[in-house]
Amino acid sequence: LEPKEEFEHSSLAVDVMRPRRSDPALAVLTQEGMTVGEVEALVESTHYSGFPVVVSQQSQRLVGFVLRRDLLISIGTFVFICVVSSSQVVFTEHTPSQAPDAPPPLRLRGIMDLSPFTVTDHTPMDITVDIFRKLGLRQCLVTHNGRLLGIITKKDILKHMAQITNRDPDSILFN
Ligand code: ATP
Repeated sequence: LEPKEEFEHSSLAVDVMRPRRSDPALAVLTQEGMTVGEVEALVESTHYSGFPVVVSQQSQRLVGFVLRRDLLISIGTFVFICVVSSSQVVFTEHTPSQAPDAPPPLRLRGIMDLSPFTVTDHTPMDITVDIFRKLGLRQCLVTHNGRLLGIITKKDILKHMAQITNRDPDSILFN
């Protein structure tokens, strides 16, 4: 499959990324301030393979990306070692100050990808597809002026290609 063949349609990352206007908001984790219970609830209420980590809900500045699988393994492991549902989950380098009687935090910086691949919303899709192929990406994040806007998975690209060429997504060779 030649990228140019499929993307002479001048699609941009913003045309392919999720969430769509009608979808629920992007599911993100904040680098501090969420409890183990809140993270578990978010993970269990969605089926996404991963979650962007942002500085705060308000800033939406990207910090990293965590895989669902790694989150579940870490939470499952640490629950046996003094981590409780009200423990704070921390992705920062330094542990934020907590009340003296607060349970020990769960430090998860180690499982976070600190440099997830990002494109801007106006990046042409032929370039994005080229990068997915060359780097073997499964997903990339989309930003606008440094704020996180959305996510594009390999499957989203295949679905988009299928839509514009009127084909079955499974029939498209990607790699
Ligand atoms: P599948 O799970 O069927 O293999 P997929 O490979 O696209 O799908 P997922 O991570 O499950 O991977 O994403 C499913 C859909 O949800 C995709 O359209 C993707 O863009 C979107 N998505 C992925 N992560 C998030 C997230 N954290 N918040 C909101 N939407 C997301």
